[in-house]
Amino acid sequence: MAPSHPDPTISRHVAVIGAGAAGLVAARELRREGHSVVVLERGSQIGGVWGYTSQVEPDPLSLDPSRPVVHSSLYRSLRTNIPRECMGFTDFPFAARPHDGSRDPRRHPAHTEVLAYLRDFAKEFDIEEMIRFETEVVKAEPVEAEEDDGGKWRVKSRSSDGVADEIYDAVMVCNGHYTEPRHALIAGIDSWPGKQIHSHNYRVPDQFKNQVIVVIVIGSSASGVDISRDIAKVAKEVHVSSRSTSPETYEKLPGYDNLWLHPTIEIAREDGSVVFENGKTVYADTIMHCTGYKYYFPFLDTKGEVTVDDNRVGPLYKHVFPPALAPGLSFIGLPWQITPFPMFELQSKWVAAVLSGRVSLPSQDEMMEDTKTFYNKLESSGIPKRYTHLMPDDSQFEYDNWLADQCDYPRIEKWREQMFYIGFKRIYAQSATYRDNWDDDHLIAEAYDDFVKFMS
Ligand code: FAD
Repeated sequence: MAPSHPDPTISRHVAVIGAGAAGLVAARELRREGHSVVVLERGSQIGGVWGYTSQVEPDPLSLDPSRPVVHSSLYRSLRTNIPRECMGFTDFPFAARPHDGSRDPRRHPAHTEVLAYLRDFAKEFDIEEMIRFETEVVKAEPVEAEEDDGGKWRVKSRSSDGVADEIYDAVMVCNGHYTEPRHALIAGIDSWPGKQIHSHNYRVPDQFKNQVIVVIVIGSSASGVDISRDIAKVAKEVHVSSRSTSPETYEKLPGYDNLWLHPTIEIAREDGSVVFENGKTVYADTIMHCTGYKYYFPFLDTKGEVTVDDNRVGPLYKHVFPPALAPGLSFIGLPWQITPFPMFELQSKWVAAVLSGRVSLPSQDEMMEDTKTFYNKLESSGIPKRYTHLMPDDSQFEYDNWLADQCDYPRIEKWREQMFYIGFKRIYAQSATYRDNWDDDHLIAEAYDDFVKFMS
């Protein structure tokens, strides 16, 4: 399957949607492979989610589909949850810069440092010249067969110059998936009188001073952990409700005298009370939903070939190509619980090589068969659809290495894999201190030994 051919043969005209980390590296890989690239970015700068803004949406739950969308979901205190050495692109190390006051040298730096790194990356590879800023893609659809049978794509975009209607050979979707909130369903919430907010619209704790807050987290939500601690600095009480804990749980979290852990909420009542499954009741001012995000592609019209069903974007071969529309349509960056930048890079290399003809895809039927087998496997293991793009345990690096093999690119470094696993465990074991205390200095040394070849 997918043999490599020695020479790239075809140069395609490709639209990349979004100039976050995924779109930037996609543009670089496409151009390296000999394609012509236009990156369409609705914001005014690169970096996507890493472009922190104090602005929030007018609707704190972001339920109104016609609301003005704020892309970034970062809060002001955010530091990375992945160590910088394993977070960066494979050939452009996210190394600590010398202390000149302008950069954050910490291992888990502030969000400003990630944006600075992405700016360095864009500058190093002259990526900005490919980007059209303040240009929002409003429609991307396959060109009708009678107009063209070459699998081309029509892309309509809106900017201050009006609406552009253009034809491309391929479209790479790099629009991110941390902007469209998911919410918890809470019995009785319609008559509960307090305020609700989704973490997408959380920036700073000030507004919660002296309040009683219930923070709902799902899964291993790093932001839920951060935000509840951020708010606990000023709030009267913070009650975290987690569905991953046993129904009896009632714990005061170490290091705080106003932060408790509970199981799920049983009911919210008209009198302002919130009752947890453990039988405890609190009278809360605000419920904060740290309940994650949905994949959302309002601009994409695939005539039903790709759907989002319970947060499964499918059918997609290896999370990237819809078999019926490959290779003209591809998605970069759907997997989660991963170290994203290296994966974006490998997915982009694969797509670029497929588009040039240097690497072949299996037939449409074979891709569909493979995808169905994957979905059946999830189902028979009892894994819900919404976890289709979750890559737990070894699966992320197996996947990365599969992509690397397709493109004849080196596999993921062993130190990077180990650092990710150790770092991930550290988040659970020492959630309040993991960013500043570690015991894997030997892996940092290995990383920097490797970085030497990429740093001048
Ligand atoms: P984004 O960065 O979201 O970029 C998408 C871009 O597409 C945006 O610029 C947007 O404006 C543009 N766009 C969207 N729709 C359109 C349209 N219709 N037309 C034109 N442009 C459009 N990752 C880590 O590696 N380490 C971390 O510590 C970490 N912490 C995180 C903390 C939070 C709170 C969140 C939300 C995410 C975190 N991530 C972290 C994951 C992060 O999302 C990825 O690292 C990565 O930056 C995502 O890049 P992306 O390019 O896929 O998406």
